[in-house]
Amino acid sequence: VRDVCLLASDRRARLEIAIAVTTEVGRAAQRAHGFGTTSAIGLGRLLTATGLLALTSKRPGTTSVQILAKGRVGQLYADATENGEVRGYSRKPKLMYPLIAKDQRLERASIGAMVMPGTVSVVRSNAKGEYVQSASPLTSGEIDRDVESFIAQSEQIPTVVACETLLDGEGDVFVAGGVLVRAMPDSDLEALYDLRDRLVDGALAKLLVSSEDIATLFAAVAPGAELVEPETKIVWKCRCSFERVLGAFELLGPEDLADMASKNEPTGVDCDFCGQHYEVTSAQVMEIFKSKIQAHG
Ligand SMILES: [Zn+2]
Repeated sequence: VRDVCLLASDRRARLEIAIAVTTEVGRAAQRAHGFGTTSAIGLGRLLTATGLLALTSKRPGTTSVQILAKGRVGQLYADATENGEVRGYSRKPKLMYPLIAKDQRLERASIGAMVMPGTVSVVRSNAKGEYVQSASPLTSGEIDRDVESFIAQSEQIPTVVACETLLDGEGDVFVAGGVLVRAMPDSDLEALYDLRDRLVDGALAKLLVSSEDIATLFAAVAPGAELVEPETKIVWKCRCSFERVLGAFELLGPEDLADMASKNEPTGVDCDFCGQHYEVTSAQVMEIFKSKIQAHG
């Protein structure tokens, strides 16, 4: 099953529904960061939820969601563009706690014990660099439920968010996906709660395992809905580049730059998001130093 997001609408119940398969995103994240089981599940759910938020946002721009946890996970971060490019990291990539028995890895796992308490913080920014930030306390530490309560609180809209990242016996991502449902004005809340029952407490995990493709999943989740847009891609893609690394060096002070240039060896920088390694030679650092000195006289 390839990764894709479907945007649909149930006109009778007045619900907006987004459904995504994010298996390849989850696998790419795990490859990039060498995730242990719990990290793969935690960040996998966050990547899916963030992608769904970005793709259902009415305004163009980037959406980032950060989980700041007092629990062992520490911090989870994901961001997504309006084009469905997602990336993210976990501060504790090797977490395997709580242990999840091999024969239970295709069921929904509870990871709240390594997360709670904490806050979920969402930043939406546009192409001009303007941004809006809001935050709410974590309610369960299960990530998808926390994003759901964040939307319910900050947007005052009845919402369902369910995301799953399920692992195989080796601890590798087997299948991943998620659903985001928002009530429109005058929606049928009874229908929303029925839909919630088909998604939460492990129900979505069962659907993901048994669905052959996104069409089957869509039919099982939202039988009364119709597509409102052609399918959108959702992909793991980092926006880092050597130019951006150099741009970060340009923000350093002249003393730091002189220090690095004098070492006569390349300075290594690893991208937080994708693990890509960059090396800036001392000659390149010297150039930045010189242009800085010239600019400031
Ligand atoms: Zn990167």
